Amino acid sequence: MRSIVEPYWDTKLPIYEITLSKLQKEGIDCLLIDVDGTLINRNSTTIPKVVKNWIFESEMYFSLYLISNNPSEKRISKIAKDLKIRYKFNALKPRKKVTLDVINELKCESKKIAIIGDRILTDIVVGNRCNIKTILVKRLGKDGLPIKFNLTLLLEKLITFFIK
Ligand SMILES: [Mg+2]
Repeated sequence: MRSIVEPYWDTKLPIYEITLSKLQKEGIDCLLIDVDGTLINRNSTTIPKVVKNWIFESEMYFSLYLISNNPSEKRISKIAKDLKIRYKFNALKPRKKVTLDVINELKCESKKIAIIGDRILTDIVVGNRCNIKTILVKRLGKDGLPIKFNLTLLLEKLITFFIK
């Protein structure tokens, strides 16, 4: 059995380099997507063009839903509106409640749902707890490119090494 901290797929890629055909081959129909670090740098207000293009293409093949732990509805709703995607803010991942609400709303079989995020202890853990596929991506910097040194992820990997 997969450990709760282990991603189904550790891509080592930024989200916009994930090929959609690979997700389709995995039988995925619905994508729950983290916001800060995954689609946009957390200190930035502009969604990188490459991310927007990836989202607009994904929309043709998958049901998308944003699930953010950010408590600012103002920030998350603006990003969701830009991308024309449904959203939840203040989702309290790795707690299951909000993520399960979204899974129920999507009416999609759990094996056909994946959560994509840049953090193990929130995104990956909540996905594993909800029995959906989990996809870890690289965190985006202010320039829209993946950051080279991700201290959070390094610490998370260190912690998870001991709790596996
Ligand atoms: Mg994040």
